[in-house]
Amino acid sequence: MKAGQLFDCPHCGNNTFLMKEAVMDGWTKKCDILKCSSCGTVIEEIKDDTTKNTDTAKDKQNEKRNALAALFGEEPEDYKATNTDLFNTEKRFCRDCQYRVMNAFRIRCGKHEKDVNPMDDCPDFKPRTEQA
Ligand SMILES: [Zn+2]
Repeated sequence: MKAGQLFDCPHCGNNTFLMKEAVMDGWTKKCDILKCSSCGTVIEEIKDDTTKNTDTAKDKQNEKRNALAALFGEEPEDYKATNTDLFNTEKRFCRDCQYRVMNAFRIRCGKHEKDVNPMDDCPDFKPRTEQA
């Protein structure tokens, strides 16, 4: 049923139409109700989605926040943090280190004189100054 719809009111028996009215809880709108325009009997409650499912409401809020962030060219906080971590780790990989000595089949570390994996990280890491 919706506002303005004609119906036979079971309370007053008139053929009348539905009025929509907001139910307020202080300053917060709780829900809408449909009332008989003749006698004022509440026929139906229209509950807001937000009161039905809080999780959905939260998701909606997050969505809105992320959409807003995208609008202003900002990445959401979580994504930013992950990206920074990746970046910091990547900078210390043995394959990008200036002590790296490439062989046909393996990578050696010139500093520690041992075989290393390209994705190893090392406390003595020094970034390569030129690409090889
Ligand atoms: Zn009525």
